[in-house]
Amino acid sequence: MSYSRLASSIAESPTLKLNEEARLLRERGEQVIHLGIGEPKNKTPISAILSSSAKLSSGDVKYVPTDGLPSLKKAIIKYTEDEYDKRIEPRNIIVSEGAKQSLFNIIYSLCNPQDEVMVLAPYWVSYPEIIKMVGAIPVIVTPEDGTFIPNFSDIEQAISSYTKAIILNSPNNPSGSIYPEELVQSIVEICETKGIFLICDDIYHKLVFDDKKAIPSYRYTKKDIENSRIIVVNGVAKIYGMTGFRVGWTIAPTKLVDLMINVQSQTTTCVSPVMQSAAEGALLGMQSVVETLRLNMQNNRDILLEELNSFTDVRITKPEGTFYALPDFRAYIRKSVASNSNELSSFLLKKALVVTVPGKEFGMEGYLRLSFAGSVKDITEGIERMKWALDPNAPSDIYIGERKLVRDWL
Ligand code: PMP
Repeated sequence: MSYSRLASSIAESPTLKLNEEARLLRERGEQVIHLGIGEPKNKTPISAILSSSAKLSSGDVKYVPTDGLPSLKKAIIKYTEDEYDKRIEPRNIIVSEGAKQSLFNIIYSLCNPQDEVMVLAPYWVSYPEIIKMVGAIPVIVTPEDGTFIPNFSDIEQAISSYTKAIILNSPNNPSGSIYPEELVQSIVEICETKGIFLICDDIYHKLVFDDKKAIPSYRYTKKDIENSRIIVVNGVAKIYGMTGFRVGWTIAPTKLVDLMINVQSQTTTCVSPVMQSAAEGALLGMQSVVETLRLNMQNNRDILLEELNSFTDVRITKPEGTFYALPDFRAYIRKSVASNSNELSSFLLKKALVVTVPGKEFGMEGYLRLSFAGSVKDITEGIERMKWALDPNAPSDIYIGERKLVRDWL
């Protein structure tokens, strides 16, 4: 039997695959440390719990408008005014099943087969696959070796008559970098001049450190929302730690929102009103939960950096936001244990029971993405185990629980 060629060409999400591998190892009693996971450990904000429970208790849980509950849209309008200083109307919003579905619907609604969508490396793993899913072509622009920010001239050169959109993710998963203001401004300008859509994946926009800010792209356009090429994607997964609620949204010109509504109405109909009420509760509740999470992540980042600094040959660029770092492990890849980042990641899982995500998945071979969204203990113990496995300067034995392990491969 033959299946769809297109579907068969889509890669499995490496992060979700690793989550599953870690879960199975844990089920077998293994003391796995998960530095791969992209979600904070915080509890759901109480305001989200209360509003979704109220919706559920009402017993009135039915289909709701495809583009989102009017009350959630109201909360999103307020959020956009407060955070982006941008006035939008309900018709500029569509609520989807997480930012991931928002991105899929955007790409599906923008692209014809063979159109190109520019993706700036390092990039979130799902962008190229989503682009391929609609028959479009991901065009990857890679920064100079050792840096995480592509040059504007390379972006400019990669634009062709097929370029439909550029995806901008700042703060960036996986590097934690924030794109410099001048670069964002130049990208906005070139998009508006050439009629290219700019998809801003802002899912981490409030998780920024050391008084840094990710300046919204809207700042650099004089056009109103209907005439601008800027599309903003956001959601509750990261900044409120509400990954399991699956609520994201898109802010875009009405014409695009209308197309996305048709797409969504023929696929998932609407996001559950219970989950939408949770998102509304989060947006309208006490915002100190976001600040607490941000400070927590900043502290975790500092601990991770300190641990990595004593890792002999690891090079690290300080993350300015998100909860990820993308250290350069090429020195260890050359040495013996692995010939690429996939093998290195597998080696660390097998030998040290530490989950990391291979940089190759993000367009950065030789690097590993480490998440610092977990506990301080996970970070310190995880890095200690990685040093034991890779760094000849680290002590050659280690305890994982009661078990003493001796390194005999360096
Ligand atoms: N964009 C980026 C950059 C992400 O890292 C993620 C989640 N890992 C998403 C979008 C998807 O978010 P959601 O859970 O709301 O679908």
